[in-house]
Amino acid sequence: TSPIVSVRDLQVHYPIGGGFMKGKPQTVRAVDGVSFEIYPGQIFGLVGESGSGKTTVGRAILKAAPITHGEVTLRVADTALHVDQLRGDGLKALRRHAQMIFQDPYASLSPRMTVRDIIAEPLEAMKLTRNREETDRRVREVAEKCRLNLEHLRRFPHAFSGGQRQRIAIARALVSNPSFLVADEAVAALDVSIQANILNLLKSLQQDMNLAFMFISHDLSVVAHFCDVVAVMYLGEIVEIAPTHKLFSQPAHPYTQALLSAIPPLDPDAKRDRVQLSGEIPSPITPPTGCRFHTRCPVAQPACQTIKPEWTQISGDHGVACHLVADHVDSTVPEHLQEQ
Ligand code: SF4
Repeated sequence: TSPIVSVRDLQVHYPIGGGFMKGKPQTVRAVDGVSFEIYPGQIFGLVGESGSGKTTVGRAILKAAPITHGEVTLRVADTALHVDQLRGDGLKALRRHAQMIFQDPYASLSPRMTVRDIIAEPLEAMKLTRNREETDRRVREVAEKCRLNLEHLRRFPHAFSGGQRQRIAIARALVSNPSFLVADEAVAALDVSIQANILNLLKSLQQDMNLAFMFISHDLSVVAHFCDVVAVMYLGEIVEIAPTHKLFSQPAHPYTQALLSAIPPLDPDAKRDRVQLSGEIPSPITPPTGCRFHTRCPVAQPACQTIKPEWTQISGDHGVACHLVADHVDSTVPEHLQEQ
């Protein structure tokens, strides 16, 4: 099967302060050379601390963040949309096939529109239906899938709870029958019981419509139960990708190990020592040299300060960027950096 989303060496850099500070260029390297693939029907988790660049990756795939460098391809209905090059009508096709669900459903829904009009708006904007009757039919269909009824469609968003508002946002995202959804912290603002509700809904919609998801979250417990594959981001880079069960049972990168040590293990008999990370995530304007994690890594080697770790496939579906895993620290450490 071909991937529905391919991302190759994606960079998103923003100039700040007019782009210069004391004559030197100032750039936020929000995403710095990220590559991965998402397959049809797959739920791909993207995790990391705030400031790691995960939201920017999601936005770049939908062309809602500027792509500085790299290739982003979305394959739908035998057509490859080269997102990094899209303009005009190409962007309309992208909107139809790829949509986003945000954390705060209230902010993303117009308070002056009825739920029917909110859900119908993308159909009308993209001219996907021929008349009002067809639009209403499609709105009712998708509302029903999202467990909203006809009475709900006549009301305004303020009449609904957070969970119901998220159902409305999901219905609106699905009305154009997309193949790919980016869910950015889509359940983070909801109570735990409502979170489970929305996650179950997303899962059943994903199976029903063979949707692929990018599920962006800082909550590893949610990711563990919801995603098929997980990528871990640190300071604009992906440091590890693996199927969820492998990532949680055999995390290879010291940063992944530290993140996982803070949550209860999937296997209640498994024991895990908590790894405390010191310090804050460094600035993406002047990221550390070598391995970007070296300033906080509990097992950093001298070489980590200067040599960027290469991507290593531990197995066909498990990749990581760490010198210790690549096991070539000794052979690549410059003499003057080697421990005495
Ligand atoms: Fe830690 Fe070095 Fe591996 Fe980076 S490359 S994660 S600093 S051991």
